[in-house]
Amino acid sequence: MRLLMKFGGTSVADAHCIARVVDILEQHHKAGDEVAVVVSAQRGVTDQLIEVASALPTAKDPSAIRPMIQAISKRHMTTLEGAAPDYVAEIGAEIEDRLVNLENILFAIFSLRELTPRSKDYVISFGERLLAPIVGAALRQRGIASTVIDGCEAGILTTPQHGESTSLPESDERIQRRIVPLLKKEIPVIMGFMGCTRDGILTTLGRSGSDYSASILGAGIDADEIWIWTDVDGIMTCDPRVINDARVMPSLSYLEVMELSYFGAKVMHPRSIEPAMRKNILVRVKNTFNPSHPGTVIVRNGQRDNRVVKALTYIEKVAAININGAQMIGRLGVAKAIFTILADREVNVMMISQGSSEANISLIVDENHLQAAIIALGDLVKQGFVREVSHNHDVCAVAVVGAGMAGAPGTCGRIFSALGAADVNVMMISQGSSEANISFVVSQSDGPRAVRVLHDEFHLSEESDE
Ligand code: ADP
Ligand code: ASP
Ligand code: MG
Repeated sequence: MRLLMKFGGTSVADAHCIARVVDILEQHHKAGDEVAVVVSAQRGVTDQLIEVASALPTAKDPSAIRPMIQAISKRHMTTLEGAAPDYVAEIGAEIEDRLVNLENILFAIFSLRELTPRSKDYVISFGERLLAPIVGAALRQRGIASTVIDGCEAGILTTPQHGESTSLPESDERIQRRIVPLLKKEIPVIMGFMGCTRDGILTTLGRSGSDYSASILGAGIDADEIWIWTDVDGIMTCDPRVINDARVMPSLSYLEVMELSYFGAKVMHPRSIEPAMRKNILVRVKNTFNPSHPGTVIVRNGQRDNRVVKALTYIEKVAAININGAQMIGRLGVAKAIFTILADREVNVMMISQGSSEANISLIVDENHLQAAIIALGDLVKQGFVREVSHNHDVCAVAVVGAGMAGAPGTCGRIFSALGAADVNVMMISQGSSEANISFVVSQSDGPRAVRVLHDEFHLSEESDE
């Protein structure tokens, strides 16, 4: 079998975890599988890089740089010593070289007082750059040949949208050419999260982007299956940190996972299903720390069961925007003006609702995009397109997901009756045309309760449906 395996931040957090990763890979290698591996940064490293780099343009001195470099160096060297003792000198020198390069860039950002999207992408890719050589060396330590390749060299060609780039169709052929010849004799280790533009400029694929790398590469090598190894047994009925009796789902459809990840289920990057779906490749989500658990299988048509609602997501980091103004009634082009200006400023609109009077449009946006959205919409007020724009931070979005909801009458009624009975006030509702998702907005304080009520209402903790 040809497999693409991706290991997330917790799966490579230290030498002990990497030993488990190598156990898994060795087992498949011995069984005759062809395997390519994608790794992300060690848990927390990307956050550290973003935090320090983002503060530099306005910092009064560059004193945050050295302690971070030292901490990252120590962590990676300790991991290397434990995971690949015979390679400490060779890979240690490589890591130190990269850290010198990173330190120089960070000092330059401080001196220039400028962090461009392009330089930010370069900086935040270092987590993967530092970790992948350690995993490659750990494989060689066990006698398995391994080449370490960055995302660009592996063939991932992307749009130039820094921080949120998307793979281009040419990636397939480039990946095929670069990676497939290696699979007969070794396990290549590819740095996740990054690709490059046609001009060779490094880009990143968005937070949690190594899931997306895995799917792009899996499609590129025509893998039989893509395995996403993480720290939970599979995709669960809800974020286990919100619902403690959330249950692992044995099977989901591509569409269901897209809806879940788009609406905030942190377990997968939102665009990571598309490449696998295009090539109809089965995706498994499995636990590195419990590999005998079958995990979740994601295929075109998920397991048929009589469950209408399968899972819930809950996103806190959103804001509601209300656009009001009688000028909007019947006026052609208002919606176009709103969405064009938001798209131009790269604002991610997650939900839209418009009353039939057309005098009001409500939007839910990523909290990080609120400022840009308010400025952009302010321009429309000045131009007389709309009268006023207000916003509310104190909201969260809940999505109810299940392909079986399509054509199942009464699901909406059941959702909102249960919420009403629990005294949860619903501020906005939206249903996508796929009908695999009904999402709604409540105040932040009501969010966890809304999720709990619906998890119980649809008996999601139970193995079989009511
Ligand atoms: P990795 O480092 O392996 O990419 P992440 O931390 O990005 O792992 O994603 C795994 C985490 O996602 C889990 O530990 C869990 O807390 C969280 N999570 C959120 N929603 C879900 C869900 N519906 N099913 C499973 N895990 C979820
Ligand atoms: N290291 C990147 C991040 O933290 C990519 C990933 O983990 O998938 O977002
Ligand atoms: Mg992740």
